[in-house]
Amino acid sequence: MKLRLLPIALSIGALGLVLSLGQCKKAEATAPQRVPYLPISAEHADSFSGANAHDHVAKIVAFGPRPPQSEGYEKTLKYLESTLDSFGWKTTRQTFRAATPDGPVDFTNLLARHPSAPDRPNSTPVIIGGHIDSKKLSFPFVGANDGGSSTGVMLEIARILSSDHPAAAQVELAFFDGEEAFRPGITPSDGLYGSKFFAHELGTRPNWPAIGIVLDIVGDPDFRTFHNPEAPTSFGNLVDEIAGKLEFAKPVVKAPGPIIDDHVPLQNTGLPCLHLIGDFTTMDYWHQPGDTLDKIDPGMLEKVGKLTLRFLSEVQPPSEN
Ligand SMILES: [Zn+2]
Repeated sequence: MKLRLLPIALSIGALGLVLSLGQCKKAEATAPQRVPYLPISAEHADSFSGANAHDHVAKIVAFGPRPPQSEGYEKTLKYLESTLDSFGWKTTRQTFRAATPDGPVDFTNLLARHPSAPDRPNSTPVIIGGHIDSKKLSFPFVGANDGGSSTGVMLEIARILSSDHPAAAQVELAFFDGEEAFRPGITPSDGLYGSKFFAHELGTRPNWPAIGIVLDIVGDPDFRTFHNPEAPTSFGNLVDEIAGKLEFAKPVVKAPGPIIDDHVPLQNTGLPCLHLIGDFTTMDYWHQPGDTLDKIDPGMLEKVGKLTLRFLSEVQPPSEN
């Protein structure tokens, strides 16, 4: 993750623009439409268990470091597949090879839909995403918060939605590989491998999702939570309103500038996205050995889970011109 340098944001934006233009050309014949979204019941937020989410994070951390192609990554994939299967979701491995500063690497995103959702290549109206991989560093780095926390929240959301098939039918869960750069910081050619590939695949679908939500580093109550300033104004206002009611220990605020994370490739396809991320800029253990399970608070995971589900119970996709 995650440089906040505007020139890099613009660079990645420019790449996205090229992709979008390519899609527009092809889109003239098929004119993909965004899939209509029907807000889910507000009651689902009450069912979110921070203890359950924390248990998932603990299990994932116990697999050890999980950079792309590692044993820990494969164990994590298998854990996600078996857990999602137990909740009645169908998973698909989305594999691809990409050039990295360390040479070609085989990446694997894990995509999950409920059986009541439309078959591929159609879109569900909502995509909830987060990264699985942990950054490859010179020491054993398990990324309990950076990569683990959002994964735990997404699994608990899967459990809850499986009790409401019409709600589950509207959501695709996208667990991304390769969010982390192989070099220190994300650049236009290093990092966000999984979300870029997924975003490219989105552009080939006959219809498009209407709302994206991306979570990252959401497990520590000692830090502020940022939402993305590029999100539609209505998204930001709704998050502020809901977060106020949930009484986070530290405020949930609009980030002071663009943050490069997995939501950026999705946004660059035109998808309206909400991105929630803990304030890693003041987190002394970010990309350090201290990003361990003791930093993860079930209560914080629960607030983020409730925030996500309440957002989905009230949000309307912004109208497009
Ligand atoms: Zn990171």
